[in-house]
Amino acid sequence: MLVVCPHCLAANRVPAGRTGEDPVCGKCGRALLDGAPVALDDATFARFVERSDLPVVVDFWAPWCGPCRAMAPQFEAAAKQLKGRAVLAKVDSDASPQTSARFAIRSIPTMVKLESGRETKRQSGAVQSAQIVAWVGAAA
Ligand SMILES: [Zn+2]
Repeated sequence: MLVVCPHCLAANRVPAGRTGEDPVCGKCGRALLDGAPVALDDATFARFVERSDLPVVVDFWAPWCGPCRAMAPQFEAAAKQLKGRAVLAKVDSDASPQTSARFAIRSIPTMVKLESGRETKRQSGAVQSAQIVAWVGAAA
């Protein structure tokens, strides 16, 4: 399966079932899946989500949004728990107007789950890490 490097955006082929074994990027040598949310913006979003074979869960947020800041540590904890099963990413909706418009983001925080680059579900409002993990794992 293809795993996109969060550092250099190179698409790496990783055998399915080995995503939990800390694969490193063949191009830059850094960790492909380090369990931390990946920061994406208008320049990197499409390249990242369209080539990722792992589901990508995007948290649309903004620095001025209190509930978003409150949810940030929960999202980080969920990223750690979902490591190897899904990639969690963050998009600053103010700094990434094209991506926000593409998904018609009207309130934040909003989480969007993408599979093969296509939205399969979304949820608005701040939630706890356990709810994020359950939501990502449940069928659309
Ligand atoms: Zn890389």
